[in-house]
Amino acid sequence: MDSLSCPVCAYALKLKHRLRFNVYECANCGLLHSDAKFEHSFQSNLESTSRDIGLKQLRLGNFEIIISELQKLKEGKTDQLQGLEIGSGNGWWLETCIAKNIDCIGIEPEHIYEPYHIEKKLNIIYGFYPEVSPGRDGGYDFIIFNDVFEHIPDINGLVESLKKDLADDGLLIINLPMSTGFFYRIGTMLHKLGMSSSLTRLWQFNFHSPHMNYFNADNLKMLLEKHHFSCLSIHKLNTLDFSSIKERIMADSGVNKIKAVLMTGALTLMKPIIKNAEPDTKVFFFKKA
Ligand SMILES: [Zn+2]
Repeated sequence: MDSLSCPVCAYALKLKHRLRFNVYECANCGLLHSDAKFEHSFQSNLESTSRDIGLKQLRLGNFEIIISELQKLKEGKTDQLQGLEIGSGNGWWLETCIAKNIDCIGIEPEHIYEPYHIEKKLNIIYGFYPEVSPGRDGGYDFIIFNDVFEHIPDINGLVESLKKDLADDGLLIINLPMSTGFFYRIGTMLHKLGMSSSLTRLWQFNFHSPHMNYFNADNLKMLLEKHHFSCLSIHKLNTLDFSSIKERIMADSGVNKIKAVLMTGALTLMKPIIKNAEPDTKVFFFKKA
């Protein structure tokens, strides 16, 4: 097999974990990179009702944090903000934008949530970015990734397309899981003890759209700085809504009821530790340098 090089800093990658796919680590910048393959089947194996109950409240809380920072950074702009979301999934971000009088278009490869998109009158184009991207004269005020950036195979090509599609003073907003987070560390520790299911789950190797990269704050900034972006701010987001952990665990079809109850109990006991630990999800705001 050819030796792989780090998509951030071009250093040689070293094999770190053998899971369903291999995970490599960059000894220079610490990027974790997988050789996972995206299955173009477009069949999500998450049970969508359970997932919705568990996640919606959590996501909407995080979107409040993102929107207040977006509005703060765009304070001088009097026109309605025009944005693009890449990978809209269920469409909750677009729904939030409508409620906040922000004009945002979504691009989404899957049709699984299409009835919901239609019901909520969301502006979604089906397909892959940048192929189906409509573009906007003068560029977008912001482009956002909500738990999507880590799934994209060619991140350098992606960032170049983003640069073209953003206005000169446009913001690139990336909300993603962190390799420095509490759950990632626990997953790695369990894997070393021979229990690999958490780490496999974190990489989403059992799902049709696995993670390609796990970033930390430094290597994400390094990637964007290489493409002439600069980081304006970083905010911690919430990963767990303690009122709906059980539904979220149940949404993973591989978990049975007893196991879900046990996991819920364990996580509830660890609540004070988790709340003070290194965050598992952060949002980064970048602009063109
Ligand atoms: Zn690297």
